[in-house]
Parts: sequence; C-alpha cells; structure tokens
Amino acid sequence: MNTLYLSAFFMRQALAASRLALPHCLPNPPVGCVLVDHDTIVARGYTQPPGHFHAEAHALSQLATAHGLEAFVTLEPCSFHGRTPSCAQALIDNGIRRVNVAMIDPHPLNQGRGIDMMRRAGIDVRVGVEQAMVARFISQHLDIDPRYQSLKCCQEFS
Ligand SMILES: [Zn+2]
Repeated sequence: MNTLYLSAFFMRQALAASRLALPHCLPNPPVGCVLVDHDTIVARGYTQPPGHFHAEAHALSQLATAHGLEAFVTLEPCSFHGRTPSCAQALIDNGIRRVNVAMIDPHPLNQGRGIDMMRRAGIDVRVGVEQAMVARFISQHLDIDPRYQSLKCCQEFS
C-alpha cells in the first residue's frame, strides 16, 4: 500500500475513535488519536471527560513506550498546560517521530502553536491529512460551543 493511502486509512481510524468521545467529552471537542508502529495501530485514544486525558494522552497512556511511533490526530494537539498537560508536549516527551494532523485547531490561542512546538522539537509534522472528512465531523462540535471561541483548549477546557 502506498503512503498516502495508509495515511488516509489511519486518520479515518482516528476519526472513528473520536466518535467514541461523544457525548462525555463535551464541551471539549471530540478528538481521536491512533499511534502507529510500522503500519500497525498499537493504541487508540479519544477525548475523555473534562479534566481527564485528551485523545493523545489517552492513547499514550496505553503504552509502556511510544518512542519512535507515528501519531494520527484529528485536531492539532493543544500547546498549553492547563488542567491537563499540553498534548503537543506529551507527544514530544514520548519521542513520537511523526505527527499527522487533520485540522489546525481554530481556537485563537492554539491556531498553529501546537504544530510549531512539535516542529521545533524535531518532529516531522504533516497537516491536512483527511482534513475535509474530519472537519465535517468535528466542526459541528467546535461551533456549538460558544465558549470555544474565548477559552483555551487545555486550560479552561481540559
Ligand atoms: Zn490536549
């Protein structure tokens, strides 16, 4: 299988995982994450209820080590430490090699900061994988929550 096909496949698996987050994740957006080791999914995570793991941390928590793995996340990992630690930092600290993101977090206080953090740490970050498909699902949950426009994903929202 070619790389583009595989990337789309894994992002769709992350999207499927994100659907499991509803309704308990609200008002946080439903995000999904899969961790991949040599073309095999080794962990699947999704947004837990407020105050608990975000999707990335949920997936990481299932493994003894995630060093060198590739991650597929439906929404840009959060860059701020709030009630839960920054997911971008968690991916860095766990030695993730490459991060595929479907969609930039539109929140004004993230909006690419999570991407920048990971790139500065040397992670190969790819943005836009299956973006249209993911946006159709997650955008409705970004839009219905008015607080999303004024609060940080990981501070007030976690
Ligand atoms: Zn997060």
